[in-house]
Amino acid sequence: MKILVVNCGSSSIKYQLYQMPEGTVLAKGMVERIGEENSKLSQDFDGKTHTVETAIANHEVGMALILDTLVSKEAGVIADINEISAAGHRVVHGGEEFTGSVVIDDKVIASIENFADLAPLHNPPNLTGIQASQHKLPDIPQVACFDTAFHATIPEVAYTYALPHELYEKYRVRRYGFHGTSHRYVARRAAALLGKGKYDVNVITTHLGNGCSMAAVKNGRSVDTSMGMTPLEGLVMGTRSGDFDPAILFYLADKGYDIKQMNTLCNKKSGLIGISGVSNDMRNLTEKAEQGDVRAQLAIDIFCYRVKKYIGTYTAVLDTLDAVVFTGGIGENAVSARAQICDGLTQIGIEIDPQKNAATVRKEGDITTDDSRAKVLVIPTNEEAAIAADTYELVG
Ligand code: ADP
Repeated sequence: MKILVVNCGSSSIKYQLYQMPEGTVLAKGMVERIGEENSKLSQDFDGKTHTVETAIANHEVGMALILDTLVSKEAGVIADINEISAAGHRVVHGGEEFTGSVVIDDKVIASIENFADLAPLHNPPNLTGIQASQHKLPDIPQVACFDTAFHATIPEVAYTYALPHELYEKYRVRRYGFHGTSHRYVARRAAALLGKGKYDVNVITTHLGNGCSMAAVKNGRSVDTSMGMTPLEGLVMGTRSGDFDPAILFYLADKGYDIKQMNTLCNKKSGLIGISGVSNDMRNLTEKAEQGDVRAQLAIDIFCYRVKKYIGTYTAVLDTLDAVVFTGGIGENAVSARAQICDGLTQIGIEIDPQKNAATVRKEGDITTDDSRAKVLVIPTNEEAAIAADTYELVG
């Protein structure tokens, strides 16, 4: 059975065609800069890359181009689009309604529309992708996989903000959490690597990419997570601030900042780029810091300190700790950041083996000493594989 996995952003569509249940990727690609003049599609297949540079006016056109490419002479991997049996879509916000992936019907569409309020940058393009896929592939089931779903098990005590309770009752202001598909995927892989059942592990999962979040996973279920009602809360990220005193915003409002400016400030101009003033990218910052750039070093130090602080917090939340898991571009690659984060964690049973740490880049592995009571695992995330697996489970 062939399943198309779709991750639709405001100006891009990422996609992968899976052969299930084997989980083989037949092709993977991306449509970029939709609506701009220099839009293009690139697709990797059979170890080759095929690129189409053409005007792609909207997501409908983008989806049509994807399907044409999948059956094309130059880059085709299937003979007919009817070979695609289902599509699985990433959807960022599922509110309190969705606790797992679901087959999309009109009611699900209405709910995704409804939650656009909570994720105005993400849910509308996700929905556009679903609708484009429905138009082009009208006879197959479409499945929605929500970033929030894995965190549906977080208890009230962890999801409720200490704000007037009416705000929750009236507007559903609460912690939802994101990156759920990634946290779930790596938590399940961690259980497998530790030789335990999926509901038999306590792990802290650390997704460090451009967006960063952590989850406390108790008996295989998320019980707390660092992102909140929106993906702004928690860790220091590429351009997002993570936690800070909300009264700073009142102070800035007094100084003349308006809501739009404050939104841009917190979401686009803070985090690693805000502190360093040079880059939102950990690779660049590491280079700059090595050349003596003090603020690049400060950005890295604050980033690592925040992750370490959350490891402490979540260790307190879990009864016992089996492992900390690193994933995402930084978690999978940045050997020095991992070492810095875990430095001094011997009191919670973590002892990094520097050689194993250096040798584990973009691959699965345990980077602790044999005596380390809790393990630290590097596990490359694979959200697309998780979406393909959910879709297969629901419709296969
Ligand atoms: P996204 O959240 O957009 O999917 P990624 O998971 O790809 O992003 O993570 C991007 C981050 O990973 C960037 O900060 C990048 O610098 C960092 N990164 C990627 N490779 C390395 C590396 N070899 N060393 C340090 N950081 C890296």
